[in-house]
Amino acid sequence: MALIVKKFGGTSLATSSHITHLAKQIRKDVDNGDSIVVIVSAMSSTTDNLLTMASKICDNPETRELDMLLTTGERISMSLFSMALNSFNIKSCSFTGSQVGIITDDNHNNARIIEIRGNRLKDTIKNGIVPVIAGFQGISEKKEITTLGRGGSDTTAVAIAAFLEADECEIYTDVNSVLTADPRIVPNAKNIKEISYNEMLEMASLGSAVLHPRAVALAKKFNIKLRVKSSFNEGEGTMISDDSSMEGLIVRGISHKEDLTAISLKTKNDINTLLNEMYKNNIKIKFFINKDHDSITFIIDSDKINKALTALEKITESVKVNNDIAAISIIGIGLNNNLDINKKILEITDKYAKEIEAIFFNEFSLTIISGKSIMNKLITKFSETFDLG
Ligand code: ASP
Ligand code: MG
Repeated sequence: MALIVKKFGGTSLATSSHITHLAKQIRKDVDNGDSIVVIVSAMSSTTDNLLTMASKICDNPETRELDMLLTTGERISMSLFSMALNSFNIKSCSFTGSQVGIITDDNHNNARIIEIRGNRLKDTIKNGIVPVIAGFQGISEKKEITTLGRGGSDTTAVAIAAFLEADECEIYTDVNSVLTADPRIVPNAKNIKEISYNEMLEMASLGSAVLHPRAVALAKKFNIKLRVKSSFNEGEGTMISDDSSMEGLIVRGISHKEDLTAISLKTKNDINTLLNEMYKNNIKIKFFINKDHDSITFIIDSDKINKALTALEKITESVKVNNDIAAISIIGIGLNNNLDINKKILEITDKYAKEIEAIFFNEFSLTIISGKSIMNKLITKFSETFDLG
């Protein structure tokens, strides 16, 4: 008998018949003697629709109010899911994040889980009741409702799996597994059967949307067996675990991001002042490119550009904005130590040298910052060279 945390994403919960289908699957798990804990995200597009509703009321809603609004999405799916389980004669009860004691900091819209005070959850499981928990949300010490950032229900699932010392945490989605590359660019991208926490962390942080990066970091910290699976097909999906079980160095996959903007500026202020100004406004700096001494270039998500420019107005003399920016990342353990692979990468990038702004690498990834026009070409070439398609 295993204790398994199963998290269902929005596309898996798209309609009531999707929910009924999943409840039927859980009936089988329960019949096999497993204990199941369900984590749900909002039904597909619900969170986006709620954000659109807010934007029709005002440009800059209070982050507290936004959290109150966005957490309603998961309340819909959790209650429907619990009803569906009940209708298959499975005792079930739905819970909000605060009801299961997910305590976060008070950083609205991007809160971090501090601890789980989960006695109620443990008692529920002990009494043979399947808990259905709203992902993506918690409550701060000040008793305010918070959310964990877009895609944050994966992080709820891993945190709950760690708290319960579950045997496995399964993330159900609309693809069969983590893929070697984006199938819209590499149509024959392959399924990845196994990947290490470190590589998955790089993939997720550098653009692969299949998992919330913070969920992977948490799984690594608590050594949780994490699996990405399809809710529509049978199959093993992708197992994410530690490096030791992995085969030797291979290029595992390619991630990319194109919703990026570079800001170049001249300032008499030091770099700390600049960083502080960005962090105060919740703007993450993705990459720094310093080509010369008196100007600084950094890259942020494009949707943060207006906020960034307003913040920078006070402390800079001249600002240039370039939204023709893409980041293409090749992922694999020990990349920076393998000359052969690096040579192959350089042979490809050489042809596009003029359009490449910078190359960064670390132990697990190599990232090329370029104009958007060569992004697809680079991804296609890399996937041919490293047998990813
Ligand atoms: N519903 C939230 C979102 O759309 C959380 C999640 O899906 O993980 O971002
Ligand atoms: Mg997701």
